[in-house]
Amino acid sequence: MAVLSFPCYCGSGKTFTACCEPLICGQAFAETPQQLMRSRYSAYCHHDKNPQCSQYILQTYHSKARAEHNLADIADFAKAVRFIGLKIIDDAKLTAYQVHFIASYLVGDKLEVLDEVSDFELEQGHWMYCSGVLTEHAVTRISRNDACPCGSGLKFKKCQHQV
Ligand SMILES: [Zn+2]
Ligand SMILES: [Zn+2]
Repeated sequence: MAVLSFPCYCGSGKTFTACCEPLICGQAFAETPQQLMRSRYSAYCHHDKNPQCSQYILQTYHSKARAEHNLADIADFAKAVRFIGLKIIDDAKLTAYQVHFIASYLVGDKLEVLDEVSDFELEQGHWMYCSGVLTEHAVTRISRNDACPCGSGLKFKKCQHQV
């Protein structure tokens, strides 16, 4: 079945098929920590269309961190939230092994953000995610008549992001 190309979830401006999909499908490997980070974000977003995405998220944990995670938890989180945007933060203090990002997502009508500086390491020549340090932010409640925080221009009640 042919699937139409759509803009990648990670906001790179490329299509999903030209951006994160080859990584998630195991046809290519991330060349930078940021690429790996973006593809893991997209894997969460794409999970409802392909449950294999949780496999990718688990496999891209560094082996020293992987035992703390499992497929069921990853799948539960992916199903519980609706990611609406990813921002990569340009931060001069970071090393070449770190990425600072802010991912926004909805849990019901609550807008939450994951603001994290992530650490990556190479393992057998491939970038792997180790762990991250989070910055806490307040949770915002979105009313039905508010603009959807995804930037679609639609009211929340009309946007695909209201569940
Ligand atoms: Zn992407
Ligand atoms: Zn929306």
